[in-house]
Amino acid sequence: MYRLNDDILSIKGIGEKTAKLFHKLNIFSIEDLLLNIPKGFTSYEDAKIPEEADNDKLISVPAVLVPGSVVTKKTGRYNFSLAKINCSGIVITVRFFNMPYIRNLLKPGTQYILRGIIKCSKGQFTMLQPQIFTPEKYGELLHRLMPCYHLTKGLTNNTIQKAAQTALKQLEPVFDYLSDIQLKEMKLLPISETLCCIHMPNTQEEFEKARKRLAFHEFFSFLYLLRKEKQERPDTILQNPMIAVADTARLLEALPYKLTKAQSKAWNEIEQDMEKNIPMNRLLQGDVGSGKTIIAFLTLLKAAANNRQGALMAPTEVLAEQHFRSLKELIEQYGLCIHPVLLLGSMPAKDKREALQGIADGTYNVIIGTHAVIQDKVEYKNLSLVITDEQHRFGVNQRESLRKKGNHPHILVMSATPIPRTLALILYGDMSVSVINELPANRLPVKNCVVSDSYRPSAYKFMQKEIAQGRQVYIICPMVNESEEMDELENVIDYSERLKQVFPEEISIAHLHGKMSLQEKETIMHSFEHHEIDILVSTTVIEVGINVPNATVMMIENSERYGLAQLHQLRGRVGRGNHQSYCIFISSNLSEKNKERLTILSESNDGFYIANKDLELRGPGQLCGIAQSGELGFVMADIYNDKDMLILADAFCNKVLQKEESIHEQNFLDLNLHLNSVSDKMQTL
Ligand code: ADP
Ligand code: MG
Repeated sequence: MYRLNDDILSIKGIGEKTAKLFHKLNIFSIEDLLLNIPKGFTSYEDAKIPEEADNDKLISVPAVLVPGSVVTKKTGRYNFSLAKINCSGIVITVRFFNMPYIRNLLKPGTQYILRGIIKCSKGQFTMLQPQIFTPEKYGELLHRLMPCYHLTKGLTNNTIQKAAQTALKQLEPVFDYLSDIQLKEMKLLPISETLCCIHMPNTQEEFEKARKRLAFHEFFSFLYLLRKEKQERPDTILQNPMIAVADTARLLEALPYKLTKAQSKAWNEIEQDMEKNIPMNRLLQGDVGSGKTIIAFLTLLKAAANNRQGALMAPTEVLAEQHFRSLKELIEQYGLCIHPVLLLGSMPAKDKREALQGIADGTYNVIIGTHAVIQDKVEYKNLSLVITDEQHRFGVNQRESLRKKGNHPHILVMSATPIPRTLALILYGDMSVSVINELPANRLPVKNCVVSDSYRPSAYKFMQKEIAQGRQVYIICPMVNESEEMDELENVIDYSERLKQVFPEEISIAHLHGKMSLQEKETIMHSFEHHEIDILVSTTVIEVGINVPNATVMMIENSERYGLAQLHQLRGRVGRGNHQSYCIFISSNLSEKNKERLTILSESNDGFYIANKDLELRGPGQLCGIAQSGELGFVMADIYNDKDMLILADAFCNKVLQKEESIHEQNFLDLNLHLNSVSDKMQTL
């Protein structure tokens, strides 16, 4: 029998090599495997005789092998086999890759059903790499839904599907923490049924019901754990509250700009919180470019001037690095009492040791890094403040781990994601909120256009003009990780190579992606900031937080692939200085629907408006919503699409805490469903 927390290696048929591929998809345990929600389904239709109209489609055909027709050829490391089959009088050539044993598999004179992509050219049919079924086996599958999973090179859909089925068939019973009555009242599926329906549903509705249950579970677990902890925790009284210091006022005087009204208000609220004798717990919400970073720096400065340590956490190494550098510049320029250190997971061991030592003995009073800064092995001398930048990328669960670090630290989380008020009250109900609802006055709105790829040459010309005037350019290429053939790395690299052919030599072009080493990333971002690079071709790794005000053109290839909120974030990389900026959304697939969606971006620069429109257009129950860059770190649930579940979980959670309802606590804790490890597993982009 399998258990949820068994390693996937324990599944029959999965060896070290396959396990490594699963790891690439962030699947380590059986639980991960079962929570790997399919991105869609196909269904097995009745087998039929192919027609020309079936070209390029996945179909099933009845087949009998033409005797003696199997040939196997070898080319390099690969071999492929050809066979001819007779399909009620039509002969189809079938190609198999690396399956020399096909000769023994297909017996002459026996009836099979083959399922694969059919190609039709001049009345000749070919079928590529079909699956082979006996008519009986196919009959069992007929009209069943087949899940399609996100894949990685080398790992087929079939392997994932088989693994999930094997695990489910021999899974130790998973007991629910909800009673039958509660399940019935809330119209939720029991957990055990849910896991089966996720991977082997009979209907699309059954799947959607199961997915809703997981969404409920994810929301409920988050809210329950957070609120229960809060209910049981005695109010913390800080012995030595911080005091007002002159350092922050001096910095504000010296800055080349004045804070906007909204920034000043937020800063006032934070200052007051920090001087109280209870820990601050505040969310700072402000659209991209509204100037949240300087507020974070002021907050860190105040802690430092009070002889305490403060940490600033960013979701990507690139962003953490940038914060570190801009803080250092500020320190040098204005002689601030800050001794900062950078702490990243991928730092060389020697640097890390030195950093950890200095953090423990208090040499450093500001620590900037990725989630490495809250890991167990980091010991602080007197951590009294933790700031999270781009909170929505971390996941709501992280807030709890923050609180447990240091000596009841003040907590400030910053986010650009606008969430509707009802949802914000549930998700951030435990926090005070400051809003920066205006941009610095000197900003010119970004000019936008949505175009097809035939516009690309003109876009390049336009870039050249901007570069001639001393500006810089970003080009975003899609991160392709779901396709077997394409590799993200090649994409960005190939693209920048091609650009070098298009642009004159003196224009300097470089590329950036998440899989580069820390040092490479640092070097590239540093050179881009210092204008040694004119065009930066990047994956969405620069999506969050990056600030190079001299960059004025953002061009996004395949923009139809991204959610509107994400596109808005990307666009936020330009329009950060005094120059007019431009954003070009390129799409090779300009269907009416895509155009309508993208046009919203050219209509508005307001993140809140865009998020709401996005929601309207996406409509409820859309599968792809899950992939919306893991908003707020929820993995299975989408705060927009599964709003109903969030509200249900919120109400139920309150009843449980007020003892009007009860749950089977042990079953709940046993279930776990990897909620606490979500943020740990989050890739450093
Ligand atoms: P975000 O809110 O997206 O994190 P940043 O903090 O990166 O925005 O700020 C964007 C840019 O605006 C930075 O270059 C910053 O120096 C500048 N900035 C911040 N506040 C002001 C202000 N009040 N007036 C002018 N420029 C500002
Ligand atoms: Mg920012």
